[in-house]
Amino acid sequence: MKNKLFIIGGGMGGISAGLYLSKSDYEIHIFETNSNLGGRANLLDLDGFIFDTGPSLLNYPWVFDNLYKFIGTSLNEELELQKIDPAIKYYWPDGETFQLSSDLTKLSQECIRLDSRDGIGLLNFLSDGRKKYSISFDNLVTQNTQSPLKWFFSAGLKNIFKLGLFRSMESQLKLHFKNKKIIEAFGSYAMYLGGAPHDLPGIFSILPFGELEYGLWLPKGGMYKLVESLEKSLIKQGVIIHKNTKVKNIIKEKNHVKGITLINGKKLYCDQIISNVDLPTTMNKLLEDKKFKSPKMTPGVITYYLGINKKLDNLEHHSVFFPQNTKFAYEEIMKNNNIPEDIPFYISVASNNDPSLAPKNKSGVFVLIPVPLKNKDYAWDKMSEHLLSKVLLRLRKHKIIINKEDIISKETISPKKWKDLFGLHMGSAFGASHNLFQVGPFRNSNKSKKYKNLFFVGASTTPGTGLPMCVLSGKMVAERVLQNNE
Ligand SMILES: Cc1cc2nc3c(=O)[nH]c(=O)nc-3n(C[C@H](O)[C@H](O)[C@H](O)COP(=O)(O)OP(=O)(O)OC[C@H]3O[C@@H](n4cnc5c(N)ncnc54)[C@H](O)[C@@H]3O)c2cc1C
Repeated sequence: MKNKLFIIGGGMGGISAGLYLSKSDYEIHIFETNSNLGGRANLLDLDGFIFDTGPSLLNYPWVFDNLYKFIGTSLNEELELQKIDPAIKYYWPDGETFQLSSDLTKLSQECIRLDSRDGIGLLNFLSDGRKKYSISFDNLVTQNTQSPLKWFFSAGLKNIFKLGLFRSMESQLKLHFKNKKIIEAFGSYAMYLGGAPHDLPGIFSILPFGELEYGLWLPKGGMYKLVESLEKSLIKQGVIIHKNTKVKNIIKEKNHVKGITLINGKKLYCDQIISNVDLPTTMNKLLEDKKFKSPKMTPGVITYYLGINKKLDNLEHHSVFFPQNTKFAYEEIMKNNNIPEDIPFYISVASNNDPSLAPKNKSGVFVLIPVPLKNKDYAWDKMSEHLLSKVLLRLRKHKIIINKEDIISKETISPKKWKDLFGLHMGSAFGASHNLFQVGPFRNSNKSKKYKNLFFVGASTTPGTGLPMCVLSGKMVAERVLQNNE
C-alpha cells in the first residue's frame, strides 16, 4: 500500500506542492474547504461579468512554465497568454501620469518625459535589477535553509552587498531615479509585501524589474483559467481532490502528526501532511499552538467587483491611483491602523483586453483598496459604500466617469470576508510581510520545528507572497518532503 500524503488547502501553494510531488510514491489527497480550488485566486461570475477574486496579473511566467514542464507540458501548451502592454498606468492627484511598459523605448521616453535624467536612470536601474534578480533567484529565493549564514554566503560574499539588503527600497530607487513620481510608482510594489518603500529592503526593487523584464500577462478567459488548467493536471497526475471538505484540526502525537479531523468529526490518517492553510491559521487553529508568535502581516484589502453598463476605454487594464501624500497614507494604513482620508487604490479592467470577461459593450471593473489589519471592526457595509464613493469621485477628477447608476452588478469582499472565506490570518490579503527579518531563513520555515512529518506551503512561508512565489513554495516543500524520506 502506498504512503499517504495529505495537503490541507487547495490554494496555489497546495496545487503546486501536489504537482511537484505527483511523481513520488505517495498517494496524494488535497482537502479544500471551498467548492473551488485556487484559494485567493478564485472566480466570481456576476451576471456574465467574469472576475478573478484576487490575482489580476500574471508575472514571472517562467515559474509556471517550469511547473508545467515538470509534468511534461508547458505554459504555452496549456494556456493562451495575452501580453498586457502598456502594463500599468499610475495617476497622481495633480493630473500627472506615468505609464509602465516592457517596451524599453516607450518606457525610456516616459521616464525622460518626467525627468530628462531618468532615461539613463532607467538603464542603470534595469542593469542593477538584472544582477539582483539573478543573484536572488539563482541562489537565495528557493533555498531551503534555516541557517542565515549559509543563506547569505550561498550568494557569495561580494554579491551580498550588491543586493541592497541593508538599504531601503526607496533609497535603492533613489540611486537610479531623480523623479519623485517614478520612485513612487516603482516603490508602490512594497505595499503588497507588507511595508512601505522606505521600510522594506532594497532587494525588492527586483519586483518592478521582474515585471518589466518578463512582462505582465493575462490568460485568455482570466486568471482562473490557470487554476482550472492546474486542477486538470492534478487529476491527470493522480492527485485525489476533496472539495467542500473542511479540516477542523491536525491530529498530533508526540513529535509526529498522524492525520486530520474533518469538520464532521471524521478522522483520516496519513504519513505526511503539508498545510496550505495560511501558516499562522494552521498554527493557531489546526494545531492549537498557544506558543506560536504570529509574524507581522501584510495589510488587508477591500475589493469590489463592478459590472459597468458601458465600455471604459479611457481606463487601462491596470491602474494605480496615488493620494496627495503617499508616504502618509502608507504610514496610516500600515502603522497607525487608520484608513486615510485620501486613499491609494488599484483598478483593473481586464475586460478591455479580453472582451469574453464581460457582456457586449459592458466592462468588468475590479477595485482594490488597502486597509489596515487592525481595522477597528468597521461596519464594512457602510464603510465599503463610503470608500467606493471616494474612488468614483477620484476617477471623475481624471475624467473617468462611472456613475453609481452605471453599476449594474456588484460584489464586495471586505477584509473580514477575505478572512472567513480562505482562513487568512487577521484577514491579511498577502500573508506574512517581507521585512528583512521575515525573508529567507528568517521567515516561518516550510518545515515544522516540532512535528517531523508536518510541512507548510503558501504565501506566509518561504519564499513569500504572490502566485509565482507560491508555486516556488510548492517546489521547495516538495524537496523538503522528499528529503525527509531519505
Ligand atoms: C486581492 C488580492 C490580489 C492579489 N493580486 C495578485 C496578483 O495580481 N498577482 C499575484 O501573483 N498574486 C496576487 N495576490 C496574491 C496571491 O493571490 C496569493 O499570494 C496566493 O494566491 C496565495 O496562495 P496560497 O498558496 O498561500 O493559498 P491560499 O490562497 O491562501 O489558499 C489556501 C487554501 O486553503 C483553504 N483552506 C483554509 N482553511 C482550510 C481548512 N480548514 N480546511 C481545508 N481547506 C482550507 C482555503 O479555502 C484556500 O483555498 C493577490 C491576493 C489578493 C488577496
